[in-house]
Formats: sequence, C-alpha cells, structure tokens
Amino acid sequence: MIEKAERLLQTYYGFSSFRKGQEQAIRQVLQNENTLAVMPTGGGKSLCYQIPGLALEGTAIIISPLISLMKDQVDALVAYGISATYINSSLSATEQRERIRDMEKGRYQFVYVAPERFDSGAFLATLQRMELSLIAFDEAHCISQWGHDFRPSYRSIVPTLYQIPNLPVLMALTATATQEVIQDIQRLIHVEPDAIVNTGFARENLSFRMIKGRDKRDFVKEYVKSRPEEAGIIYTATRKDADHLQQYLEKEGYSTGKYHAGMSENQRKEMQTKFVRDEITTIVATNAFGMGIDKSNVRYVIHYSMPMNIESYYQEAGRAGRDGEPGDCVLLFSSQDIQLQRFLIDQSPVEEKKKEEYAKLQSMINYCHTSMCLQQYILEYFQDPNSTEPCGKCSNCTHDGKEQDMTKEAQMV
Ligand code: ADP
Ligand code: MG
Repeated sequence: MIEKAERLLQTYYGFSSFRKGQEQAIRQVLQNENTLAVMPTGGGKSLCYQIPGLALEGTAIIISPLISLMKDQVDALVAYGISATYINSSLSATEQRERIRDMEKGRYQFVYVAPERFDSGAFLATLQRMELSLIAFDEAHCISQWGHDFRPSYRSIVPTLYQIPNLPVLMALTATATQEVIQDIQRLIHVEPDAIVNTGFARENLSFRMIKGRDKRDFVKEYVKSRPEEAGIIYTATRKDADHLQQYLEKEGYSTGKYHAGMSENQRKEMQTKFVRDEITTIVATNAFGMGIDKSNVRYVIHYSMPMNIESYYQEAGRAGRDGEPGDCVLLFSSQDIQLQRFLIDQSPVEEKKKEEYAKLQSMINYCHTSMCLQQYILEYFQDPNSTEPCGKCSNCTHDGKEQDMTKEAQMV
C-alpha cells in the first residue's frame, strides 16, 4: 500500500520523498485507522489526506473553517490533474446545488466544505448515499474548546457524523500541539493513542533573531535593501506604525505594500493579491494580515515591535518558509513595546481575560530577554514533547544580536 502512496507522491506532485510524519499518517489511514496528525504550519498536512484520498475509492470530504483558502487548495489539486471542488457560502445557491449534485454522482475525488454545511441534515443525507474514501478535519484545533480558535459548530459535526452507517476513516489535522487540544480531538474523533502522529512544533527551516537597541526604521531599511528579490512581511503593532513605516520605506526608494484593517476591503484584497503573485515583495502590515493567506515562499517575517503573546508571534513568524526553504524571523524589541502591549490589554473590554493576557504578555517579554535557544523557548512554551537540542542558528545560539544589546546598554550608561 505504501508503495502505491510513494508512486502517487511522485506522479501527481513530483516530490521524491515524504516529509516527517507523512508516511505514518498515510499508512494508518490506508489501514482504516482514524488518525490525528499534529504537524507545524508548512509541515505538509494536506498530503496526509490527499494521498489516501487518491489511493482509496470514493470521494474524500475535507472540512475546513478557512473558507478563503478552499479555492486555492482546490485550484492546486486541479492543477495537478485531480478532480476537486469546494462548496461554501461564497457560491450562489444554484452553484452550490449543482456542485452537490455532481458530488453525489461521484464526480469529485476531493470536496472541501465549511463546517456550516452540516447545519442542514440534507448534506449529511447526501453523504450517506455516496461512496466516501475519508473525511478529514483540517484545522482540527477549531473543534476543541481548548484551541485558540474554537468553533462550536465545528465540534457538533462529529457526533452527527457518527450516525451515518457508511462512515469512512476519519482524519484530524492541526498545527496546535498543546496536550489539552490533542486529547480533546482524540476523544472526539475516536483516535487510538498510538494513532496520533505528532512531529512536534519545531520549524527547522526557521532562524529566529532578537534585535535590541537598533534604530528600527534603519534596520528595516537595510534589511529590505539586502533582500531585494525576496518576499517578506513586516508586522507592526498599530495601523499608524504601518502607515509611517511604509511611507518611510517608499520615501527611501523601496516600494512596499501595506495592509491593515483601516483600509477598504478592495484595497486590502488588491494588496493581498499583489503579494501572493509576487508583484510586490515586501508588505508592511498589522496582524490583520495573514489569516487564510497561502503563500509558501515568504522568506522573512520582521516584527517591528513585540507582539502580545507567543501564540501570535509564532503564528505570524511561522508564515515564513512554508515551502520548507529557509525563513528568517526577526523581532525588533524595545522597552516601549511593553508599554504599548500593556495599554492594548487594558483597552480590552473583557475584564476576566486580562489576567490571562498579562500572563501571556509576560512570557512574551521573557522570550525577548531569555538567553536560551529561541526555538527551544517557544517549544517549551507550547509544552512540545519533542522539544530537543538548541537549534544552533537563532541569535542566542550564535550570539548574534548580543553586541547590539551591549551597545544599547552602553548608550544608556
Ligand atoms: P500545512 O497544511 O501542514 O501547513 P501544506 O500541506 O500546505 O502544509 O504544505 C506546505 C508545502 O509543503 C506545500 O507547498 C507542499 O506542496 C509542500 N510539501 C508537502 N509535502 C511535501 C513533500 N513530501 N515533499 C516536498 N514538498 C512537500
Ligand atoms: Mg494546511
């Protein structure tokens, strides 16, 4: 069976070998074992359900809460010569009905649907009349209340599914590796403990750097100058910072994009498209940018100031290097960043959450001051059971950035 999987990997995708965890996940699914795959962003989770979906008879149903990504994923499959479609609220009612009809006829090997599709019993009834190869829950942390993006409607699908007699093998995929989330998904989807494939959180192709005591604008300018052809994201904490930094870079002769919630929907769409198509290489953005953007060749992510917590930081920095090629993640820290984040937390209307937010902020501040390996610090924060050796290439491992820190301290003296 696994030979067949290897052949499919080569013939459809042109890849020569599986990445860490993929082979085990695929093998289990082919043996009809419900499987939970925990792999970092960019780790290659899609192939874990796509290869079995190609190898097995019938239609694979992929449930995903990220409507904005469905079209891209379907386009990618179609480009590989695989029959696939998506059904969600971005389509007209007529179009949705047509696709469901075609799906029932078995015309697609892959159908991506949003969780809301299961709100009506009709879709479930259609699935019961079909031959299914597997059902995959992408972004499966959304079905757990411990996950950072809990969607109750996503959770309620699972018991409903268990009522259908022709239920195929189930898969859950996520990049969130906390133990609570893993156990919750495991129980809900009925995954045996040894059928959890957990490659951990580490992103081996990313290098983390902490820069202190440098003029931030100047750093960014020099950085962008040194990487003219490479795609990168510069995250600022506020819209105002994004506006100013982008203006500054433009003035210095570096053409950059901009993205924040203060821009019109059309402007934002245009920026996003230009960035994804490599028409602009650098984009200055707030954290409004990134969700649901599938761009694999981002080479660097710079944080112009410290974000509010490690969760956001790792998610945003992790948008670099999704293709497995090196990615550079730089955090420009200054002590004013702490005041700003405190202020933002204080602004929050939810009183009960503040204590938790402050605790998370403290871990973020500690990250900025730690002398341990930066990748390891993050893995320990997430209680990654695979947390291992120092990465050898972050600024703490290489003592890069330290000098700047000293300079600053000297300046202050
Ligand atoms: P995830 O969903 O885990 O974030 P994806 O499934 O989107 O990651 O895969 C990220 C990138 O890695 C994609 O560009 C994909 O084509 C590539 N990829 C996945 N598996 C392999 C492999 N075995 N060999 C080479 N590239 C791979
Ligand atoms: Mg994915």
